[in-house]
Amino acid sequence: MSGNLLDFDPGQMEAWFAEQGEKPFRARQVLRWIHKSGEDDFDAMSDLALSLRAKLKLHACVAAPRMVSEANSGDGTRKWLLDVGTGNAVETVFIPEENRGTLCVSTQAGCALDCAFCSTGKQGFNRNLSTAEIIGQLWWANREIGRDADGNWPITNVVMMGMGEPLLNFDNTVSALRLMLDDHAYGLSRRRVTVSTSGVVPAMDRLRDECPVALAVSLHAPNDALRNVLVPINQKYPLRELMAACLRYLEKAPRDFVTFEYVMLEGVNDSEKHARELIALTRDVPCKFNLIPFNPFPQAPYRRSSSEAVRRFRDVLMQADIVTTTRKVRGDDIAAACGQLAGQVQDKTRRTQRIALELQA
Ligand code: SAH
Ligand code: SF4
Repeated sequence: MSGNLLDFDPGQMEAWFAEQGEKPFRARQVLRWIHKSGEDDFDAMSDLALSLRAKLKLHACVAAPRMVSEANSGDGTRKWLLDVGTGNAVETVFIPEENRGTLCVSTQAGCALDCAFCSTGKQGFNRNLSTAEIIGQLWWANREIGRDADGNWPITNVVMMGMGEPLLNFDNTVSALRLMLDDHAYGLSRRRVTVSTSGVVPAMDRLRDECPVALAVSLHAPNDALRNVLVPINQKYPLRELMAACLRYLEKAPRDFVTFEYVMLEGVNDSEKHARELIALTRDVPCKFNLIPFNPFPQAPYRRSSSEAVRRFRDVLMQADIVTTTRKVRGDDIAAACGQLAGQVQDKTRRTQRIALELQA
């Protein structure tokens, strides 16, 4: 059976090698070549027997998505558009900082959840990305940027905050996470890998049990009435259930807090009253807040809150002893900031109808 080896997490790689009559340590060797060394040429895998190399050349490949275009921001942020076939392309963003390099990874071509302020949501949903397409973003970006002077890869942190809802592409997201965490692949610590979700409650429980990593939850509103409008999946999993799911997640999480993301929309969710409501809502949940200045996109129905409003909002939360940061806007000159990722998605699904059905389910 032939296969794209980027599609396999460590367990699946061993299973595939077993099918070929090969020992498990061979699978680990190949994992290291592909993910640690960034190698895609079987001939270069010098510690494999020639016969195994020949077999791999015949039955396997290492195929990441193809880059279609690249944009570089004045602040060092880099964005790539990656072709994922059938007329779709997704975006990956690299954000360099003093002590770390963060890659913001996409998990779906488009998104079905249609949050009111999100450019990806406006594209509709096309399909889930495969494991190879998710981990391929990390594999490819590391190779593209290259190792630093000490021989280290540039990407030290991954956030699943690109296009799509990771927890609605659960299996492939978890396979990609397993590769990020595995010592024979990327060896990142669970605390340096973050899944961001709009609040798919049952999948949060599964993630906790199967592959707990740092968790960010897109909150954006302090009450159900407003959240139902801004984050429509709230109609299915309202705030009381979401807060309970956060508490359950923390029982097994690598960090002892949840990060609540909160996009600041002028005149919509940014008053001091909203901040006080948030304090009451999250009273029992160990958390930090990350305020995100709204990033506009064409036809966006909202405006960014003033920095004065953001500061006042932050002060109210801080006075209640909630650690609150304001996210720096990175890469907005190349439309690479949060929520600006549009990629190129052919919405072949009847999106509105589908969402309505899903929410009723
Ligand atoms: N689907 C997941 C992850 C991708 S979105 C989720 O919703 O969490 C990553 C983050 O960017 C989320 O917190 C999302 O709400 C936020 N975001 C979306 N559109 C935005 C915009 N226009 N400006 C600022 N942040 C936005
Ligand atoms: Fe989807 Fe997240 Fe955008 Fe909502 S904010 S539409 S869940 S990508």
